[in-house]
Amino acid sequence: MKIIMLGAPGAGKGTQAKLIADKYGIPHISTGDIFRANIKNGTELGMKAKSFMDKGELVPDGLTVSMLLDRVGQPDCKDGYVLDGFPRTIPQAEELDRALSERDERIDFAVDVDVPDENIVNRMSGRRACLKCGATYHLEHIPPKNEGLCDSCGSGLVLRDDDKAETVLKRLQVYHDQTQPLIEFYTRKGILKTVDGTQDMKDVFAAITGILG
Ligand code: ADP
Ligand code: ADP
Ligand code: ZN
Repeated sequence: MKIIMLGAPGAGKGTQAKLIADKYGIPHISTGDIFRANIKNGTELGMKAKSFMDKGELVPDGLTVSMLLDRVGQPDCKDGYVLDGFPRTIPQAEELDRALSERDERIDFAVDVDVPDENIVNRMSGRRACLKCGATYHLEHIPPKNEGLCDSCGSGLVLRDDDKAETVLKRLQVYHDQTQPLIEFYTRKGILKTVDGTQDMKDVFAAITGILG
């Protein structure tokens, strides 16, 4: 099963993608996590990506698409995957489609986690991230068992640089301009499924598993 997660920054795509990946036994692929790992390791790709990420802008499609297509071509992706944070532009979605159809494959579901802008700033300011394993928590809604430490790997949690309020507003604007058109794109393809992302994490997941089966 091949799934795309859509939604504003902070809507809960990553949180739900992890739950989906566990339940269905498929890899969770987050382009944001891959970029952050590259930044941490000081790669050339990481250095290029960082300048855009810090401003709340998208990394150019050229860099992003080749990285993602390389990842979904790995052997662990042969039975499917859940994409979190990709595609984020119409050209990215078209390139993905083209690459998949060359192999006679297609995306099965595009799940839109719908959360209004008013809730987003709270979601992001309370988000704490583990840069080692990609887990995310929320200070009020989804706290870690031990304050400041990742439940999964024990590393220290951080407020991402791009989760500071002024960058969040920029990212929301970028979302509306460049990513939201994908809702129409996948609606036309007949695979868009919308879930109410303002519910409790478990209820959002129940809605998603009701759709995926
Ligand atoms: P969020 O948790 O807000 O959805 P991500 O971790 O997915 O954020 O992405 C963080 C940043 O990484 C984005 O603001 C953007 O700069 C960059 N990025 C991630 N995925 C993509 C993509 N598909 N295309 C372009 N830039 C991306
Ligand atoms: P995205 O990947 O879409 O940027 P995340 O999954 O990282 O979003 O979630 C953003 C923040 O909101 C995190 O702090 C996360 O713990 C929290 N969060 C996720 N889902 C919910 C929910 N249903 N209710 C409240 N907070 C949530
Ligand atoms: Zn961790």
